[in-house]
Amino acid sequence: MNQKIKKFAAENQLSTHHDDMYGRFNGYQVSVRFGSKFSTSVIVGFHVNLGDKTAEILDWLNITQKKSLRLQSVFLASSGVYCMLLNMTAGSSLKKVRVILQTVTEYLRQQGIAEDVCPYCGQEMEERAFVEDNGIFYYAHEACFQEKLSQIRSAEAVEESRPNNYLRGFLGALIGGFVGMSIFYLLFQVGYLASISSLLGALLGGFLYSRFGGKNDKIKIVIVSVTVLICSLLAFFLSYLSMVGSAMQEAGILGDPLEMLFFLMRTEEEIFRAFWADFAMSIVFTVLGIVVVVIDMVRRQRKASFGMRSHGEAGGGQGLPN
Ligand SMILES: [Zn+2]
Repeated sequence: MNQKIKKFAAENQLSTHHDDMYGRFNGYQVSVRFGSKFSTSVIVGFHVNLGDKTAEILDWLNITQKKSLRLQSVFLASSGVYCMLLNMTAGSSLKKVRVILQTVTEYLRQQGIAEDVCPYCGQEMEERAFVEDNGIFYYAHEACFQEKLSQIRSAEAVEESRPNNYLRGFLGALIGGFVGMSIFYLLFQVGYLASISSLLGALLGGFLYSRFGGKNDKIKIVIVSVTVLICSLLAFFLSYLSMVGSAMQEAGILGDPLEMLFFLMRTEEEIFRAFWADFAMSIVFTVLGIVVVVIDMVRRQRKASFGMRSHGEAGGGQGLPN
């Protein structure tokens, strides 16, 4: 466990579970989700029911406070309102987290938001359950939590039964690859080796594959990887060919640019080396893009309902400190 998080939790009487914190701050149920080591954001949750103040409070967070609290985004869920911030180092994130917890809880009090009600229904909790939603811990009515869980499960079942459209997915991957390819080609014409456009093509390809109806499965990795790799290589070869072609035209040499390219690679060591260095860069960025697509896919494959459970009234001995 991160020592800075441990210290922060102790100072503020929050409980911890791995690097995540939960408990009461200024009377309100809050949670701070650091997530995994590789997580790029921290999520600060306020497990309250905003009722008819919802719009007003969201506006306050999104418009008035977004800059000063350094928020990346704000979102509302049935279990409360959440603020997301960029996680650089635990130390600097915790400083921001402290300000967010302080400012938001003070504002919630000013707005008359109840401290101790079920976040789902806004009613008092005579009986309460300690619940967990993917690393976020809070108290709620058992029934309200179970209702939410069954809603999520049925949404997941609908997603599961959705037909998988490989052809349309492939089309999406192709468009993404083609966009990356065009940017690469155009920038090459004005003298830039824009390997990063191979990365862009791979990311866009992966994104469009899903948007066009392909599901997140192993076939997606194969289709997206092969498509964007071919597009990257094609962009690379076409760029080199057009460079050789226009150099030949300027010099008044007739002939096939492809043959000329091979000839130059055999005879000019400098061109040989530049060609393969550029080639390697294009491949590296394409593979990097594919890796990001795969990581994102694995993350999305994990069903949200898997991380949701109730620990019952006693909270398995991890009750929130009052
Ligand atoms: Zn409830």
